[in-house]
Order: sequence, then structure tokens, then C-alpha cells
Amino acid sequence: MEYRTLGKTGLQVSILGFGASPLGDEFRKTDPAEGVRAVHCAIDHGVNFFDVSPYYGRTLAEMRLGIALEGRRDKVILATKCGRYDAARFDFSVDRLYRSIDESLARLRTDHVDLLQLHDIEFGDFRQIVEEALPALRKIQQSGKARYVGITALPLKILRVVASAADVDTILSYCRYNLMITDLDDLLTPLCQERNIGLINASPLHMGILTERGAPAWHPAPQQVKDGGRRVVEACRRHGADVSAVSLRYCLNHPYVATTLVGMADPEHTLINLKVLDMEIPPALMAEIALAVAPVKDIIWASGNPINNDCDATPLTAQAGRA
Ligand code: NAD
Repeated sequence: MEYRTLGKTGLQVSILGFGASPLGDEFRKTDPAEGVRAVHCAIDHGVNFFDVSPYYGRTLAEMRLGIALEGRRDKVILATKCGRYDAARFDFSVDRLYRSIDESLARLRTDHVDLLQLHDIEFGDFRQIVEEALPALRKIQQSGKARYVGITALPLKILRVVASAADVDTILSYCRYNLMITDLDDLLTPLCQERNIGLINASPLHMGILTERGAPAWHPAPQQVKDGGRRVVEACRRHGADVSAVSLRYCLNHPYVATTLVGMADPEHTLINLKVLDMEIPPALMAEIALAVAPVKDIIWASGNPINNDCDATPLTAQAGRA
């Protein structure tokens, strides 16, 4: 396993990170015992970065991960989140965040997390995120319940605005850097490099689009993106390659991202994903994938408050002022 420094935190994280949302049955019903085995298998093979949230499975993923980490907590760098509790239930108020960390620690069966992130800040208000929520996370950090603080979102614009206005240790971006889309590098990576912010890239399989099984029913991407994903699956099949392995490998090749989070809930996928560490993508396949993706490359969907969205054409500076 290769380890990289997670920006200014100095934490040494495995380049392959364990995304725990599938443990909360976000993609399909999973077997809890398989989930525990997946976590143990990952740890045994050197994966040390685990990411979860109270939102995943509405606390189920945190509970299952807490059980799986019993006796192994010291082997992992544990990240959870706060502020998002259901599809349409957000609360970035100070009181809720203080309660949230205590609830997460109880479910995760630990006295601290290594990283506490504001979950999906595009659904919040810019001023509340910068003036209330992030200072609250710093207070939680001072109390010893979290070692570092970060933010997550789908739109890159709000991540950029907040990371420019406030001090954050890490940014988790998802569905902005994989075979279907690479605008992370135009819109966010340079700022992270400049400010030494640890960059976490999530959803290398585009939340299931780049798998044989395909996207889950709730996937918000437009149909044309899902169709583009099927063309990638077919290109991989023609080359006798596993689309998920190829997609993950592509993300692992990123030079600045410290860790790539792939969602896992069974040992079979965990082992396949571990094997990807020793794999290379044949250039001929890469060329075919580029052709398959070209008509839908870099298409993103709306998420959160319109003012915080990449789909809102208002210039960034005006957005910050308006927020
Ligand atoms: P993903 O792109 O990692 O896809 C996960 C899906 O792919 C699951 O159904 C999983 O079972 C399946 N899968 C995994 N390995 C596979 C393999 N080898 N072959 C076939 N299928 C495979 O999407 P994700 O889970 O949403 O993202 C990864 C993690 O990143 C999440 O679990 C979460 O921890 C984090 N994340 C955070 C945010 C946020 O903070 N807003 C958003 C998205 C993801």
C-alpha cells in the first residue's frame, strides 16, 4: 500500500480509502457480517482511511462501522461528518453540531474521530458555514473529539468560496474526478495545492455508474451520463477488463489527491479494489474510453441551494457577496 500526506494535517493516509456509505445499505441491502469482513480485509491489507457519516443509512453505517472497528480503532484514520441527517434534513447550527459529534462517537465506539467534516455544505448558507459551523468544528477540535476539520460538497464553487474565506484542513469532493469527469483539476485542485489542503476524491465509480450493475435508482445524473457510463462498461468488456477496476485505477493515478474513497461493503469487492493497486490501464482501452465519454464529459447535475451551485452562472465573487 502507498501512503500520502493529507495536506496540512500531516496524516499519512492510504491512497485507497474505504467509503462506508454502502455499509448503511445506500446502494442495496447488504449483509452486516460481510460488511465487518470487508472492513477487516481492508485493514489487513493496509487501508487506513475510513469515511462515514450519520447520514449514510440514517446512522446505520456509523453503527456497523463502529462494530467492525472494535479492537482495531488504533489502526485507522477515521473520518465522519455532521450537518446532514436525511435526504432533505440539514442542520449546521452550533448546538446540532455539538450534539452530532457526541452521537457519532457513541455509534462509532470511540472517544475521537480523526477528521470531522461538514457534510454537503451546498445545502447550507455560506455565512452560517463560515461564521458558525466551521468555528464550532474548531471548538470540537479543541475539546479533543476531532483532530482535524473539513468540508464536503458536490459543487466545486461553494467548496472554493468557503476554503478561500475560512481555514479548512481537508476537502472531500465527489463525482468530480473519474473517467466521466475531470473538472476537479480545473476548479479545485490548484487551490488545495496552494493552501496545502488535504484533498479527498470520492466516488471513483461515479456512484455506481461505472460498475457492471449500473447506477442505483436514486442516482441524480442525467440519463445521457448513465448511457455514457454503459458505453464505458462495453469498451472495458471488449478489452476483457473490469470497468470498476479500470475506473478506480484511473483515480488512483491522480498526482495530488491523497486518498480515493471507494464504497465497499463486501470482501469480494474489497479484494478486487486492492488488486487494482498493482494494475495498469492499457493505452488502447484508455483511448476507447475517451471516445465513449466524449459526448458527455464533465456533465454535472445540480445539488443544493441554487446560489451554491456550479449550474448557477453568477460569478464566484458576486456569489460570495450575495451569500
Ligand atoms: P462509488 O463510486 O465508490 O461506488 C460505490 C458502489 O460501487 C457501491 O455499490 C459498491 O458496492 C460498488 N463497488 C465498489 N467496488 C466495486 C467493484 N470492485 N466492482 C463492482 N462494484 C463495486 O460511490 P460512493 O460509495 O458514493 O463513494 C465512495 C465513498 O465516498 C462513500 O462511501 C462515502 O464514504 C464518500 N462520499 C462522500 C460524499 C460526501 O461527503 N458528500 C459523497 C459521495 C461519496
